[in-house]
Amino acid sequence: MKHQTKDFRSLGDFGSLTSLPPIEIVPQDRRTLAMRVTPAGIQVLIPADLNADSPRVQAFIEAGLQKLQTSEVWETSEVSAEDLKALVSTWSERIGVQIKRVQIRAMRNKWASCSTNGTLTLSADLVQLPSDLVDYVICHELVHLRVPAHGKGFRALMGCHIPDWEDRQLRLARWTASTGKQKR
Ligand SMILES: [Zn+2]
Repeated sequence: MKHQTKDFRSLGDFGSLTSLPPIEIVPQDRRTLAMRVTPAGIQVLIPADLNADSPRVQAFIEAGLQKLQTSEVWETSEVSAEDLKALVSTWSERIGVQIKRVQIRAMRNKWASCSTNGTLTLSADLVQLPSDLVDYVICHELVHLRVPAHGKGFRALMGCHIPDWEDRQLRLARWTASTGKQKR
């Protein structure tokens, strides 16, 4: 698979971004788009069957560059509501818990919550998060169905499923702060 390097200036007028390094488009075996800043420049990961010049990719890059410009976000991805529901079934199977219903809606103070009757509520803002942080949020919430508080048992179980969960927790806190939201 060949990597294409794009001159970001051809993507539109980004003002002060003219000093940014070039953007590398990396086709991968994946379903969603992601963008990350690396020491070598900006990488945009796209599904292998998507054309780099397609409107979906171009719109994602434009939105991503603006996010990078206006906050400390250095990583962004595209996760759909459908992806969120698929992730919930994957994670509930892994953790061994039953979710009866998943709802996605605006949540002011939380990324997710789970009721004792098995309804998982996810913040609609999750679709803006890098996908590994989405995994963290969903896993965290589902682990609570087995261990309610954040004690030793919780930490051990999180570590089993996501070894770098503490790092992700920190990144999520930074991401949340950089967007001016107050969520936990
Ligand atoms: Zn928690």
